[in-house]
Amino acid sequence: MHRREFMLMLAAGTVGALASCSASQKTASTPTPAAEQRIAALPTSSPTAPRPPSPTPSRSPLWLQDGPPELPAPEGPGPLITGLPDGVGNVVAITIDDGADASVIDAYLDFAADSGVRLTFFVTGYYPGWIDCKDKMLPLVESGQVQLGNHTWTHPGLTELTESGIISELSQCESLLNTHFGVTGTPFVRPPFGYRNDWTDSVCAQLGYTTQAMWYGSFGDSGLLTQEVLLGEANTWLQAEHIVLGHANAPTVTHLYGQIIDILRERALRTVTLDDVYFGPGHSRSV
Ligand SMILES: [Zn+2]
Repeated sequence: MHRREFMLMLAAGTVGALASCSASQKTASTPTPAAEQRIAALPTSSPTAPRPPSPTPSRSPLWLQDGPPELPAPEGPGPLITGLPDGVGNVVAITIDDGADASVIDAYLDFAADSGVRLTFFVTGYYPGWIDCKDKMLPLVESGQVQLGNHTWTHPGLTELTESGIISELSQCESLLNTHFGVTGTPFVRPPFGYRNDWTDSVCAQLGYTTQAMWYGSFGDSGLLTQEVLLGEANTWLQAEHIVLGHANAPTVTHLYGQIIDILRERALRTVTLDDVYFGPGHSRSV
């Protein structure tokens, strides 16, 4: 090696690296003008030079998003929503109802933590799983990644009830949300089975539940169904500006989180809560 070349490499701090790499040493011993340029362009380094930032810690293979996506300025929800507002962007609201199986609620919370997926749960208050999962739920609720809405206390069709019956059903669920999670579910109520009319809407509104949160597409999993059928529904309905309905009632969906993430990634979809869209990220529902 010529002294000039050696000095050039010394200046470039590459001697050590070349010494451990015979192929590079051979190439470097007969530098072409282009190679010299490349060597000269290398930054000098020393043992005390700052190291480049270490790579991001490995994420769960399910990871999809950090926080809410960019959204237009919120305009507040109307009295009845079946989908997200036109022009809201390439986002979908995944809304999960009931909670008959605590292990499914628990699995959804793990899914949210592993993926960053934002979820709105419509809580049916008398299922014990909501309180069983409280410790895991609370940090996600406090950060706004998970939103809780009202899906009544015992899941009756509101159109079958008296005024006081509707008030009792909504109030008991609201009380659970207040007491155990420190939040209100208002203004979003999801009427069980989607049964509602102008009169039931007006009774709900007396309690601050001024928005009937319906949906546009469902996983179809209020009861047990096969993975193939559920995935078919997910594939059909996970689309921009949809409000998609799922249930925390049966374990099928818990085996499909990877596939659901694949669908969202293929479509470049990001997830939102209803609060993200209608009130803006950071909206407080503390009581
Ligand atoms: Zn339901």
